[in-house]
Amino acid sequence: LQESVSRQERLASLGKLVAGVAHEIRSPLTSVTGYMQFWNKGHAPSAKSLNIVNRELRRLATMTDQLLEFARPSKAVFTECDLNGLINRSVQFFADAHGGDVQIYCQMQDDLPPAYIDPHQIEQVLSNIMYNAYQAMESGRGILEITTWHEKETGMLGTAIKDNGCGMSKEVLEQIFEPFFTTKAKGTGLGMAIAHEIIKAHKGSVLVESEPNRGTTIKFLLPEYRRGDSCVEGFNC
Ligand code: ADP
Repeated sequence: LQESVSRQERLASLGKLVAGVAHEIRSPLTSVTGYMQFWNKGHAPSAKSLNIVNRELRRLATMTDQLLEFARPSKAVFTECDLNGLINRSVQFFADAHGGDVQIYCQMQDDLPPAYIDPHQIEQVLSNIMYNAYQAMESGRGILEITTWHEKETGMLGTAIKDNGCGMSKEVLEQIFEPFFTTKAKGTGLGMAIAHEIIKAHKGSVLVESEPNRGTTIKFLLPEYRRGDSCVEGFNC
């Protein structure tokens, strides 16, 4: 009996997931298809509509990437990497997409030693955290603060990403890393689960502090590069 209950539960959550994914794919597709039909009738695309189509296509790309990363996580390929530089690039990317709505402050430690990480995976962690922060913020009043530091004693590099968004209740906070846990109508619930897996694969750690209506700070630690750590040739950050 126990087995059939857990099978039923699994099927139910799989069904929920598939429905969620289908819904997520359908809405951007509908919007892109609508614009294509409109343009096909001879209307010239406006800058605004091109922006929307671009955003919808990016959303689809992110979602498929997330699903693939979760279904078949790629193995981390470690290399010596300038973490501040990597964060700066991710922040620039974020600012290009949402900078108009959000004030961004970076306080990076100047002489941060190199990290020993998979830069593509850490980029994904940063992007997942910043996107959640963006979604939690009130439009036009968002403040994002990013800090880095070095913990000499433990040989770890710290990154904190703080937002002034809606924050989380204790119940939400406890489930934030659960795969498919989401409080959003169109969420996948995979962003934080993937971030957690990636940080664990780096032998790092992550801590989330949050207060409803005040905001959230996500702090994570990653290892610094040490002489002798092997790096894949030609794989740079
Ligand atoms: P999704 O964003 O698709 O819901 P995530 O795994 O990225 O999935 O996040 C899970 C849940 O954690 C979100 O639905 C949200 O409730 C909560 N959460 C994550 N980051 C934040 C944040 N910065 N502020 C408020 N809530 C957050």
